[in-house]
Amino acid sequence: MINDRQGKPTDLLCLVCEKAIKVPQYVSPNYKGVLVCQDCKSLLHIKLVNSQVAEYEIKKDKLQESSVIKALTDIRNSEMKK
Ligand SMILES: [Zn+2]
Repeated sequence: MINDRQGKPTDLLCLVCEKAIKVPQYVSPNYKGVLVCQDCKSLLHIKLVNSQVAEYEIKKDKLQESSVIKALTDIRNSEMKK
C-alpha cells in the first residue's frame, strides 16, 4: 500500500480480481464506505484512516452492472437514514 504526500489514497487492489481500482474522487483520507472495482464490478467495503487501509472486505463479488447501481443506491439510502 503506497500513499502519496497529499494524503489521498492511491490505487487499491481489488480483493477479488487483484487488479488496481482507481480511487474515486469522493474517497477521502478517512473514507468509510463502498468501492466498486471497475474491472470485475465487485462491491468492496473499505475503511481508511489517514489514507491507511484499516478495514477492507468483499461485500459482493462480480456483480452485473445494474446490480452494482442498485447496491450502491441501497447503501447510500441506508447510510442517509443513520
Ligand atoms: Zn476486481
